[in-house]
Amino acid sequence: MLLITCPYCGPRPELEFRYAGEAHVVRAETPSEIGADEWGAFLYTRANPRGLHAERWRHIHGCARFFNALRDTRTDFFEATYEVGQPRPSGTEENKPALSGDNVGTWSGESAR
Ligand SMILES: [Zn+2]
Repeated sequence: MLLITCPYCGPRPELEFRYAGEAHVVRAETPSEIGADEWGAFLYTRANPRGLHAERWRHIHGCARFFNALRDTRTDFFEATYEVGQPRPSGTEENKPALSGDNVGTWSGESAR
């Protein structure tokens, strides 16, 4: 089972979490003043990288708080988790291969990388 590190509670089983979409999607301050194309892009256009992806997650069966995570879409390895409102960790551009780190999810039975 995958362990995901909630930035508020620490490592917990993946069953306690729910995916909540791409992170860092910025909504227009005045949606009524933007065009249909821009609004459509906001609603429907999302990144689909092969590699590191910034995602929003919710610890639904724990603290119930939202947080951001960098997950490698190729391996499901969580490179980092961080609080909402924090910038994407530097040095973690999209499609960069996952690196080892301390604040990460690990597969049970596998030592922390
Ligand atoms: Zn939590």
